[in-house]
Amino acid sequence: SHFVELDNITLRYGGEDTGTVALEGATLRVARGEFVAVVGPSGCGKSTLMKALSGLWPVNAGTVIVAGREVARPLEIVGMAFQNATLLPWRTTLDNVMLPLEIVQPHRGRLRRHRAEYEARARDLLKLVGLAGFEQKFPWQLSGGMQQRASLCRALIHEPELLILDEPFGALDMFTREELWGVMQDLWMTKRPTVILVTHDLREAVYLADRVHVMSARPGRMVHARTVDLARPRT
Ligand code: ADP
Ligand code: ADP
Repeated sequence: SHFVELDNITLRYGGEDTGTVALEGATLRVARGEFVAVVGPSGCGKSTLMKALSGLWPVNAGTVIVAGREVARPLEIVGMAFQNATLLPWRTTLDNVMLPLEIVQPHRGRLRRHRAEYEARARDLLKLVGLAGFEQKFPWQLSGGMQQRASLCRALIHEPELLILDEPFGALDMFTREELWGVMQDLWMTKRPTVILVTHDLREAVYLADRVHVMSARPGRMVHARTVDLARPRT
């Protein structure tokens, strides 16, 4: 069985007959350690698929299984990053990165006793994305690209088994975006989480992912998805 299994999902926003059908018959399987990109036209249900699989939104039909268990509530083994970095303005870069540790068990229970260890982990991550020296800066002192780097570190600090990235580079200019592809690849090589990346950018998908899952849409409905296996050798 796969690490991630979404099977024949239907998801409706709102009431049974009045609501928007955002997903109908959506299926996605991802093996442990795989890097999969999800592409498709705006409104086809990519973000909705991510909400279903991280347990943020319940499905109306079908099954969602992650790590062998049916998903019924928001999963703590998931790390997430979005188009906007959403760093807290009153916290330094370091404290923003460490935020999930204050919320997610078992780290929350350990944080007080092992603060130095966790802080070293956060500093290592920041170094890996090129933010060494910026630990004590506030978000508004960082460029957009740097904020996004920090948000990737925040998504990884609790060592999630599954990393969900919903257009994390979409708001960046082309040069910064391509720079962050390299950063993302370094992170993936080092931490090896299972990654699902939502993107509009086919070049980005091909550059980063092992497999590209293409969703197509009829007006308002996801009706079909196919997987393009890139079968690219990887070091
Ligand atoms: P994508 O990420 O591919 O652009 P979304 O998953 O955001 O697509 O949206 C899929 C469909 O669901 C769209 O028709 C969108 O308008 C609708 N939708 C998304 N979020 C909500 C919401 N919170 N309430 C109602 N409708 C929504
Ligand atoms: P952007 O995302 O705005 O294109 P980058 O993240 O690529 O910017 O950073 C561009 C350069 O500017 C980097 O070399 C970075 O070190 C520098 N830089 C950006 N903001 C600051 C800052 N507040 N202090 C020092 N250097 C900065």
